Amino acid sequence: MAETGKIVVRFAPSPTGYLHLGSARTALFNWLYARREGGKFLLRIEDTDKERSKDEFLKEILEDLKWLGMDFDGELLFQSKRLSVYKEYATRLLDKKLAYKEGEAIIFKVEKSRVIKINDAIHGEIAFNTDEIKDQVLIKSDGFPAYNFACAVDDHDMGITLVIRGDDHISNTPKQILFYEALGFKAPNFAHMPLMMAKDGSKLSKRHGGVSIAEYKKEGYLPGALANYLLLLGWSPGKNREIINLEETKKIFKIEDLGNVQVQFDIDKLKWINGEYIRQKSAKELAALIKNAKRIDAGADENYLERVVDLYKTRFRTLDEFANLTRCFFGDGFPTDAEAEKKREKYLKDEKTKKALTEFTAALKKLENFSSESIEKACRKVAEEYNVKPATVIHPARVAISGKTVGAGLFEMMELLGKKRVVERLGKVL
Ligand code: GLU
Repeated sequence: MAETGKIVVRFAPSPTGYLHLGSARTALFNWLYARREGGKFLLRIEDTDKERSKDEFLKEILEDLKWLGMDFDGELLFQSKRLSVYKEYATRLLDKKLAYKEGEAIIFKVEKSRVIKINDAIHGEIAFNTDEIKDQVLIKSDGFPAYNFACAVDDHDMGITLVIRGDDHISNTPKQILFYEALGFKAPNFAHMPLMMAKDGSKLSKRHGGVSIAEYKKEGYLPGALANYLLLLGWSPGKNREIINLEETKKIFKIEDLGNVQVQFDIDKLKWINGEYIRQKSAKELAALIKNAKRIDAGADENYLERVVDLYKTRFRTLDEFANLTRCFFGDGFPTDAEAEKKREKYLKDEKTKKALTEFTAALKKLENFSSESIEKACRKVAEEYNVKPATVIHPARVAISGKTVGAGLFEMMELLGKKRVVERLGKVL
């Protein structure tokens, strides 16, 4: 039981799937509120759906919460271990003649024509008429509780003071309030958060870029960036600020500032924020992340990987983007983009370009000090000789050594790749 006056909130995932972005956002707001107010953040596992609940989902949900930066207080509470508790409360209602039996099931009798009001912290007052509410199953014939009953019993037993959850649960709230009343419990307060939608207003799905934290983790998003992005969906630090970490948010978060607006998931904004977090890290830290995530087969040479990261640091927003951009640095088997392929043919059809590139290759072969400065010098010299812009040499050379039309500065790329690989790759296309 909670001490009086203390704030106690909870996050109550069902381990029937991976942690959804929207649920992670709900968890974050609960966590922030508890941490800001010096309250408690409890975790309850709603595993009463026997068929669909899986250990692997539970494991991943717990890992993802931790990964995002949340910790929780006390012990995990499993609903599946509390069947006798639900049964006991339901039996009390039977005894009070507020419920009846149907076979083995226990059903709550809903009194008609009453108005149930909730004063929602986000929506304000919401009224429901009990004429709209059917009699409610408390305990199913298999002995398991129905969601609403277990939820009300647990929120009471755990001493929850405020329930922060998604709008999709608004219609459950009056039913839960009826149970609190019937059991003689004080109901907690409620804050229902507007759901997160896709940009086109539809339900968020895989085609919008993924729906679970696990997918984003796998794609190489950074936890701080993801948490930062989720925070902004419903809350703002003000002054148009967009980059803020959990540590700081924890100090200034106010539940009153949660907005009653539909929020839209915007993958481009998430990528932008991720890019900002990437740039806050050192090349060494990023190299370690890339290595751990097995994004590329970077071999043993950490120094080399760090130099590639440094060269591309402003150019990638996710670790996946880094891997795609830099394949040419980690072996000769890199793919050539369709666009680069087209351009390559166009460049090489031009005799003058081809000759200049051949000459550039020969000059590189002779270079003793294969530094970006001397490579650049050689490039400019050839361009002058052929009376073409340096770009005429630079573009096809870039395609040849990297299979891409974009990337870091060509001369730096060449220096890093080293003479042997550069000359070989240029020779191959010529
Ligand atoms: N298990 C429910 C869900 O995941 C919890 C709802 C609640 O917070 O009451 O939606």
